[in-house]
Amino acid sequence: MSVIWNEQEAVPADKALKIERETHKLEKRLCREVGRAIVDYNMIEEGDKVMVCVSGGKDSYAMLDILLKLKARAPIHFDLIAVNLDQKQPGFPEDVLPKYLSELGVPFHIENQDTYSIVKRVIPEGKTTCGLCSRLRRGILYRVADELGATKVALGHHRDDMLQTFFLNMFFAGKLKSMPPKLVSDDGRHIVIRPLANVAEKDLVRWAQHREFPIIPCTLCGSQENLQRKQVAEMLREWEKKHPGRIENMFTALQNVVPSHLLDGTRHDFKGLKATGVADEDGDKAFDAPDFPATSAMASALRIVQL
Ligand code: SF4
Repeated sequence: MSVIWNEQEAVPADKALKIERETHKLEKRLCREVGRAIVDYNMIEEGDKVMVCVSGGKDSYAMLDILLKLKARAPIHFDLIAVNLDQKQPGFPEDVLPKYLSELGVPFHIENQDTYSIVKRVIPEGKTTCGLCSRLRRGILYRVADELGATKVALGHHRDDMLQTFFLNMFFAGKLKSMPPKLVSDDGRHIVIRPLANVAEKDLVRWAQHREFPIIPCTLCGSQENLQRKQVAEMLREWEKKHPGRIENMFTALQNVVPSHLLDGTRHDFKGLKATGVADEDGDKAFDAPDFPATSAMASALRIVQL
């Protein structure tokens, strides 16, 4: 059997071919999903200068990577500039991103701001530091966007982040609210976009492995990981394992909101509702049970009932 050599080990030719095909499919899927989000939400327009926030994590590396690919073949002209905020966390390897971004040939800016010391000074030991840390980071990044003349600020949140946020808001804040793919910043001056909105995290993991991004660990600040988010992520993983396709369905549901069938009187005028007197074949059949596509187990149960 012929073999293809890579640095670590010999890979049989048929296996190497399969890996190559899978990687090609993954790349196509990533480009398609990012492209779809850009078009569906009108994220990037002619002449935009997009500030791509790169933290050194897999998601932001992948976002930059895919945006560069799309820029090369886009029918419109836009510019990308990668920005990293070095928050001076102990052990942050400050040479990694400049080296990577220079080799990539993308314009970039490293903003050095010691928010780590501020946070440590202000927040009492043992209390969570993320709130203040992200507020400071946000303010700095918006200022940098102004200074660079960026018209859009791109963040690397993906589909799974959005679903987790949706459940966190429902469980702990009593709100049906996720992360928007595009928004106006709280200072009212910036458009923030999330080009990975349609992308599954597992695809980003695989892409990061394939591209061998020089990942910078996100635990340098010593802060505890958000436990609630971790639990929700675990819950979603379990659901998906037991019911494949559930994540996809839930994500689709976020794009298919029916305010008249929720209970928010500010989104639907329940008080002013009047009968129209006109029959509508597609209207609401309030007395019928809603139709759901039957799973195979449910389908056989239904067959037994019908016998
Ligand atoms: S994990 Fe650390 S760096 Fe990230 S927001 Fe929290 S305090 Fe800041």
